[in-house]
This record gives sequence, C-alpha cells and structure tokens, in this order.
Amino acid sequence: MISYFNKLYTNNKWVKSSSSNYYKFTNLKNVKVKVVISNKKDISKISKNAYNGYNIWTKKTSKKKSLIIKKISDLIKSNRLTLAKAENNDTGKNLKQCLEEINYCSSLWKHASLETGKIKDKILKINKKTYCKISQEAVGVTVLIVPWNFPLIVLSERLPYILGAGCSVIVKPSEFASESIIKFFDLLKKSNLPKGVLNLVLGDGKYTGSTLIKAKNVKMISFTGSTENGKKIMKSASEDLKRVSLELGGKNPFILFDKKNLKKAVENLVLSFTHNAGQACVGVSKVYVKEEIFLDFQNELKNYFNYFSNFNYQISNYQQYLKIYNFIKKIKFNKNQIIFKKKLKKMNKKNIFYPMILKNLKKKNPLDETEIFGPILNVHKFKNENVLKKELNLNNYGLSCIIWTNNIKKSENFVKNLRYGRVWINGNIKQNYPQIPIGGFNWSGIGRETGKSGIVNYSEIRSTIFNKI
Ligand code: NAD
Repeated sequence: MISYFNKLYTNNKWVKSSSSNYYKFTNLKNVKVKVVISNKKDISKISKNAYNGYNIWTKKTSKKKSLIIKKISDLIKSNRLTLAKAENNDTGKNLKQCLEEINYCSSLWKHASLETGKIKDKILKINKKTYCKISQEAVGVTVLIVPWNFPLIVLSERLPYILGAGCSVIVKPSEFASESIIKFFDLLKKSNLPKGVLNLVLGDGKYTGSTLIKAKNVKMISFTGSTENGKKIMKSASEDLKRVSLELGGKNPFILFDKKNLKKAVENLVLSFTHNAGQACVGVSKVYVKEEIFLDFQNELKNYFNYFSNFNYQISNYQQYLKIYNFIKKIKFNKNQIIFKKKLKKMNKKNIFYPMILKNLKKKNPLDETEIFGPILNVHKFKNENVLKKELNLNNYGLSCIIWTNNIKKSENFVKNLRYGRVWINGNIKQNYPQIPIGGFNWSGIGRETGKSGIVNYSEIRSTIFNKI
C-alpha cells in the first residue's frame, strides 16, 4: 500500500504541488509513504496568498475571530475518530492515546477562542492632557513548523493563538507525520475562514522548511523541534529580523526528596519517562534521589519493572530508532550500573524498544547532557539540594522538571531560581492545561505558548500617545 501526499492547501482549497520530488519512507503499518517536497514556486504562491489572507483576517473583530476559532474546536471534537486514526497512522501511538490527545486539542482551541474574545485596547491616563492607548497588533504572516511526536497537540498549542492574534499562517508538518494535519485541513472548509488565512505546505526540513522560513512576506517563525534545528532557524531568521518562537529539546530531571508514598512517586516517574515511548519534549530522562532513600527507591523501581515484565515501547520511526540505538552503543557502563536493560536488535521492523535504566554513571556523561528522545533513564544520588540545584541550573537545557516531596513549602524554595520553564510538584508530564503557559529556558527555547502568553507571543504592541490641545 502507498500513501501519497502531493497537495498544498491554500485559498480554502487543495491544489497540486508543482514539485515532482518526494520524501519516501515506510511507516510502522508497513505502508510506503511519499510526501511531496514542495518547491520555491509552491512556497512563493502560498506566501502571497497568506499575505492577502492576513490583510483580511487581521481587520476582523476579536469577537468574529473568537467565534471561528470556537467553531474549529467543535469541528475537532466531532471529527475526533478520523483525526485519531490519522495520528495513529503517523505516529504508531495507540488509538486510545490518540483520542485523548484530540480531546485535549479541542480544549486548546476552545481556550484560545476565549482569550481571543478578551483582546482589547488599554487606555492609560498619564495626566490631565495626555493619555496613551496600548494596542495589540498581529505580527503578520507566520510559518508554523511542527515535529512528528505530537503533531496535532503541537499544532493546537500554537495555531489557534496565532489566529487569535490576527496572523495568517503557513503550516509545515513533519515529513514523518503529515496525515493527521492534512485531515485537520480537510475540516477547515466548514470553518468560514477567509481565503489565505490558513495554508499548508508539505515537505522536508532541509529543503522545504529552510526555503519557507526565508519566504517573502513571512514575519514570524514558530518552530517546534530539535535544539540543533532551532539554532539554524534563529540564525536564518536574524537576517530579516523575523520574530521567532522556539520550542525545543529538553533534558528533564525528576527529583525525589522523601520516602513517603514511594510507590506513587515511582509510578509517576515511569509514566513520565515512558509516555509516548519517551518521545516527549518534557519527558523525564534523569533522576536525582536523596542518598539515604536510594536503596528503597531502587527496590521499588525494580519491583515495578519485574511486575510489568513485558514492558516495551514502539518508537515512531526507524530513523529515530536508529538514532537511539547508535547512541546507546556508545555509552560506557558496567553490569553493576544497570537497573533495567534488555538486548536490542539493530534491524527491528516494529521499532520495539525496551526501557533502559542505568545508575551512578560518572558526572558529565553524555546520558546527562544529550536529549535522546526514548525511554532511557540515568539515576543519580544526591546529598545536598543546594549543590544539586546549582548542577541542574548549569545544564544547557531548561524545559521541565518534576519534584516529589511531602514538603510543599520546601519545594517552593527549591523552585525559586530554578532555570526550568515547567515544573510539576508531585505530578507527571501528562498534567497539562490550556490556560497555563509552556516553554523553556536556555537551549529549550524562546517564547511561551498557550495560556495568556499564547496570543502575546504572536503580537506586536503599539503605544499611541494622545495630547489634548
Ligand atoms: P526536527 O528538528 O528534526 O524537525 C522538526 C520540524 O522542523 C520538522 O517539520 C522538520 O521537517 C522541520 N525542519 C528541520 N530542519 C529544518 C530547517 N533547517 N528549517 C526549517 N524546518 C526544518 O525535530 P523532530 O525530530 O521532528 O522532533 C523531535 C524534537 O522536537 C525533539 O528535540 C523534541 O524535544 C522537540 N519538541 C519540542 C517540543 C516543545 O514544546 N519544547 C514539543 C515537541 C517536540
């Protein structure tokens, strides 16, 4: 079977791409996938349409924009099975997880619709004669580049807010996961969006993505993906001083302070390092346990894995599987440093990966510093929390962190000055809410998505000073 994607979406309809180059791979369902690598001609056409779309959309009232965004939230809800099946084809994650994710997407659109409805100018009185009007304007045509791990969630954490700000958008999904976003665009015909507001271009990062971000009319790039590519995009955007919002990689710690409720802590740790087969930007990849409870923790973790001895996870694409496999081959450890590990095969049709947990590796080893994007953990002991905090803050990444403790007061102090954008106290990475901002410090990104920041991120602010004469 072949899945063949060779179209663009612009001016509210599908049109054939003028390119004859394709990105080809075989997906987890053994389907041969061919995704068109859109060319300069496609991009030039789409960016012109997006500019026209911006000029119409940005003038609509916040109320009108809010209503259309709400309508899209409803369309997502009523087409959840179609979208979930497509996401299952793209990523291999099971249908139940896909359906849960689509529900979350619908709630993100609903929240963005509420925030959009609240946009209005602020008047600031300076003195008897002078007042100032502070207004929010759309940044302009925005390119939205999406990764393959959570295509529809990443899209929905950004797109409704970008629209709410009054921008038009050109979306480029990952070459590995285009189907669910194509199905989402199929729904838009019923949304009453003006022509040119929402556009879709397919292709890879190397050619289509890097050409798209340089396109005329584009004022902002919203990129979610690896830190390595984020840096390249920021460099390219700087030539024109295009705005960027970057949501990048993470190397996220789980810190265990106390022994009370250890079972629950371990359950939440396992969920946070294995959810989506470890392919989550906020996924946990290293653990710090207070020295005096280390043995209890280790026993609890071993019990958990022995009880669920058939643990295995499916990596979404072979390219990613191979990346993890090659990384593991290079790490040096001995058998006393293994808490849990099974043998892996290089050739592996279903990309089956067994979780791997190592302990007490030397400080500054690659496992602590590189984002691997698979269910792998490195466990350390710690004595002093101030020393630990210093160490955590020296990390290049700063996306998320989980702290488990009985003492909430203590956790509040620990979080002060901690250089991570999202912190969960006694929680796990599945705990997400549309009204809360998300984003990273340092190499984990620039800007905050969702919450109130979702719209601010894609806005310019103008201040007009009025003087009565
Ligand atoms: P990736 O960087 O390889 O690709 C992401 C997207 O960018 C794809 O659509 C790709 O085609 C495109 N792209 C690649 N190079 C480009 C270039 N030079 N110019 C323009 N576009 C380009 O990332 P991936 O492997 O798809 O996704 C995994 C990464 O995404 C991980 O690092 C993960 O942490 C990160 N991620 C971050 C968040 C977050 O919110 N911080 C969320 C999800 C994923």
